[in-house]
Amino acid sequence: MKRTKAKDDKARNGLEEYRRKRNFDATPEPDGDSRPQGTSKKGLLFVVHKHQASHLHYDFRLEWRGVLLSWAIPKGPSLDPSVKRLAAQVEDHPLEYGGFEGVIPEGEYGGGTVMLWDRGTWVPEVPDVDAALRKGELKFTLNGQKLRGSWVLVRTRLGRAAKPQWLLIKHRDQYASSEDIESEKPRSVASKRLMADIARMDRGDVEKAAQADPAGSRAR
Ligand code: MN
Repeated sequence: MKRTKAKDDKARNGLEEYRRKRNFDATPEPDGDSRPQGTSKKGLLFVVHKHQASHLHYDFRLEWRGVLLSWAIPKGPSLDPSVKRLAAQVEDHPLEYGGFEGVIPEGEYGGGTVMLWDRGTWVPEVPDVDAALRKGELKFTLNGQKLRGSWVLVRTRLGRAAKPQWLLIKHRDQYASSEDIESEKPRSVASKRLMADIARMDRGDVEKAAQADPAGSRAR
C-alpha cells in the first residue's frame, strides 16, 4: 500500500494512544511534540526503563519510524538463552522518552518511579523490519550498557486482544550468561541512582520504589 509522505508520517507517528492516556500538566513525561536531539544519528535508539508502577516491570523500547516501539516485560530481560520472558506490547512512545527518568505522580497513568535501566543502540538482523514485525519474529543486536549481543522478539498466539504478547529471548553468543542482570546491575545508566534514590530526589514514594531495588543494594 502506497501512501503520501505526509500521511505516512502521521500514520507512523502513532502517539495518539500515548497522549490520550496521559495528562501532561500532571506528569513530567515528554508529550512527544518536540524534536529529540542527538538520537537517530548514531543508529537506532534502544532503551529499557525499570518502572515501579502498580507492579514492577521493565519497559523495552526500540526506535522505529520515529517512535519507540514498546513492550512491558514483568520480569525484565534474561541473558540466559533458555529463558523466555513475556513481553506485552504497549503503546508507542515518543523518542524523547528515551531520555526520561523520574517520578510519575500517583494517580496518573503508570504512576510510580521510572529508571533508565539501560540505553544504547540496536541493529536489525533482518532485511525488512516492518515485515518482521508483521510476521511476529524480529531478530536484532543490542549495543547497550547492560544488554548486548543477539536477541529475538517472537509474537505468541496468546493475547491477540489489545496487547499482543511477545517473548523476548537471548540468542546464544558471547553475551549470553546465567547472570541475573536485574539483581547484579540495578542502577540507572543515566544517573547511577537506585529506584529509592530517584523517588527521594523526585519526591516520589521512596518506600514503594525501594521495594524494586535488590536487597542489599544501598541508596545514596
Ligand atoms: Mn511501564
